[in-house]
Amino acid sequence: MAEVLYRKYRPINFSEVEGQEHVVPILKESILQGKVSHAYLFCGPRGCGKTTIARIMAKAVNCKNFQKTGDICNECEYCTAINNSSVDVIEMDAASNRGIEEIRAVRDTVNFVPNFLAKKIYIIDEAHMLTKEAFNALLKTLEEPPEHIVFIMATTEAHKLPVTILSRVTRFDFKLGTEKEVIKKLSKITKAEGYKIDTDGLKLIYKASGGSFRDSESLLTKIILTSADNEITTEDVLNALGISDLKLVEEFIEYFQKEDLNAITASLKSISDNDGNVVNFLEQILQVMSERLVEDSKKGLLNNKLLDLANLIIGLKSDVRDFNDKLTVINLEFLKYFSKEAKTITSTETIITQVVSTKETSKSASAEPSKIVELKPAEISSFISKLIELSEGVLPRLKGIINTSKIEIETSEIKIGNPYKFNIAYMSKKEARDIFMNAAESVYGKKLGLSFSIISDVVPAATKKESPEKPNSDKIVESKKKLDRSQDNSSLVEELF
Ligand SMILES: [Zn+2]
Repeated sequence: MAEVLYRKYRPINFSEVEGQEHVVPILKESILQGKVSHAYLFCGPRGCGKTTIARIMAKAVNCKNFQKTGDICNECEYCTAINNSSVDVIEMDAASNRGIEEIRAVRDTVNFVPNFLAKKIYIIDEAHMLTKEAFNALLKTLEEPPEHIVFIMATTEAHKLPVTILSRVTRFDFKLGTEKEVIKKLSKITKAEGYKIDTDGLKLIYKASGGSFRDSESLLTKIILTSADNEITTEDVLNALGISDLKLVEEFIEYFQKEDLNAITASLKSISDNDGNVVNFLEQILQVMSERLVEDSKKGLLNNKLLDLANLIIGLKSDVRDFNDKLTVINLEFLKYFSKEAKTITSTETIITQVVSTKETSKSASAEPSKIVELKPAEISSFISKLIELSEGVLPRLKGIINTSKIEIETSEIKIGNPYKFNIAYMSKKEARDIFMNAAESVYGKKLGLSFSIISDVVPAATKKESPEKPNSDKIVESKKKLDRSQDNSSLVEELF
């Protein structure tokens, strides 16, 4: 299979093009109605078929049978001439030579009628790479285009084209293939080549190609070339692509969420030991997480842990570039991240210890005025219910935040702890503070002070309601116990999750 599949299965007719349903029918119809423009601009990401469709256009506007059947016949004298590299179809790659000479030649020859074909076609690939002079020369031609020519420019960066050019072209925006479109094309090719790949394998190729038809077909070529027989397994695909099993990715994300540094290190080592590319692995994780984060955000959720991991990987990708031993650098970054996390836990522990000792002091030295008001749990529940009631329709997010906050009330102060800075910022807004004040007034009959702190351990407000008989201090001591084991990552994981 000397020929790569991308070239072998390049569509030669509009009907064979996968994807681009928003472009192809319009182009086809315009040719059938004889309304061909003098200049087209095909914009879009690489590998989505711009040049392929430009070549189809070149034939379709010339083919003698197109008007009758709506299809390129590939047999008439014009089609045959184009198949044999007609001088009337001129392809230029602006990326390789910036185009000054070529465009000048175009300007000088553009008024001559086609040598043989009905229309002379100029296909300019990577049009944004043309120099200013080349654009100027081209502009002169576009201002007064002769009847017999069609310019088709293709670019990945339309914004780099001068406005004077953009205003004189008919623009079409191409898009990357969807999973369904790419898989359909790949299935057709594998079947024609006599191979079998299951849908999971095809999905992996789609993901690795990012929706580029060209890239997906190049990957398929690579997989077929390295496959031992005609039955291609998901594992064959993974090996050929140098990517890891999705299960390992899921496991890794799980380890991160559980803050299991040992498992993270072991997982990265095993990828590296099994000839996997650790950087590719991180890229896969990033891809899976970005999908999850998008899904979550649609439901109004935000997983901060996933966001942390995404940021960590993005930072890592540029950090590891210059190092040969990438695994060590990656391990160190994870260690650094978790040691920062551990510091946050320690500071929360200090806060909790202080609260507990205040409580103990108040019990033993009864002569001193007690700082803690022994509020009945039922009162805290009604305070929370009041908060939720008042927030409804005013601050819709407040309810959720309250349910993930730790709320304590002292003589003259409401103390609210939440693990996330942005939740605290939300609760500090004037509208939210008013709600806290009004709820306090309604339940306790007086205005109270308000303080916020970042904590790592959340005792959901709902839990307090369920076990009203449990004294508050016990719960705090219980939290402290959990945090005391924070030196050992694995036991912290078991306790907290
Ligand atoms: Zn033809």
